[in-house]
Amino acid sequence: MMTEAQKARYARHLLLPGFGEDAQLKLLRSKVLLIGAGGLGSPSALYLAAAGVGHLTIIDHDTVDESNLQRQILHRSHDVGQPKVESARRELLALNPELQITLHQVPFTQDNALSLVEEHDLVIDGSDNFTTRFLSNDACFFARVPLVYGSIFQFEGQLTMFDYRDESPCYRCLVPAVPDDGAVPNCLEAGVIGTLPGIIGSMQAMEAIKYLAGVGTPPVGKMLYYSALDTSFREISIQKDPACPLCSDSPKITSLKEEKTESCALDTAPSITCDELISLMQTEDIFLLDVREPAEFAQHRLPGSQLLPLSTLKNQIPELPRDRPIYVHCKAGLRSLKAINLLKEQGYSRLINISDGIDGLSSEINRANMSDE
Ligand SMILES: [Zn+2]
Repeated sequence: MMTEAQKARYARHLLLPGFGEDAQLKLLRSKVLLIGAGGLGSPSALYLAAAGVGHLTIIDHDTVDESNLQRQILHRSHDVGQPKVESARRELLALNPELQITLHQVPFTQDNALSLVEEHDLVIDGSDNFTTRFLSNDACFFARVPLVYGSIFQFEGQLTMFDYRDESPCYRCLVPAVPDDGAVPNCLEAGVIGTLPGIIGSMQAMEAIKYLAGVGTPPVGKMLYYSALDTSFREISIQKDPACPLCSDSPKITSLKEEKTESCALDTAPSITCDELISLMQTEDIFLLDVREPAEFAQHRLPGSQLLPLSTLKNQIPELPRDRPIYVHCKAGLRSLKAINLLKEQGYSRLINISDGIDGLSSEINRANMSDE
């Protein structure tokens, strides 16, 4: 039963259709692990504490740096030099003194990942590097604990949730292995607009609250892309990869093992829609790469596109222009994103994803531009 004080504090939740006391009690009894008290972790933690999540565990080994204050809103100017978990504790308990909080001022590693994950109902990944992303994905997969994934880069953010049931994709279905160091920029070199982690981190908290309270539909099987510069949200469906090294029927990864890299978690890519591509092609001479299979290419294709199937791309170093942007498309935007990650590993950097693939071509433009052969 909820106390009178709790009823007063969570009154606006109790008024929500389909939420009510049952959902609030579920939140109050839930236990969330938050990896990282930085840009994504700050808004996530604040909203989880405010919403009445009963127990929050935060793991972060870092101390507050002056350059964090532009976006990591759990920390204050006078916290510079102090452990992030300490400012997190102070701010979160000031917001909600009922919150039970456990802090670990250590790195999230293969030695502690699984035991930590297993003790929680849900994990939020607020990290900023590939090593932790893979480790959190793998640990959550082995423990079958759902993971809310968020990532940010410069002006773009991504959000999805992995729930690790049979039909659900995992992070390695999208990015099978840790990219080589240097293939993608280090976070320290990349820059990020301060409000962006606020938006994506709040969305991570939203999905956690929905899942724990048992309301709504989780974003499992779809990746949401947010572009701050053109104020757009796009989503692509993500599917389980039958060849996934982790969650397929014949996995290569059968135990938790950390893969170290300095690379930033940059599995996003600048993207435009297929219709935007077509209008761009009216004014610019662009290099367009089609990564579908030859049979699909033979059926219909975009004018001037060059074929290099994703299946072949994995085993060769393609000779593509390095002095101009490469626009990459497939059927619906997923294979092209995988191709972009492979090309990044080969040192290509100016890569633009066609987020909705050739399927996104509107029928009007379709008739005017497609070559059907
Ligand atoms: Zn997988």
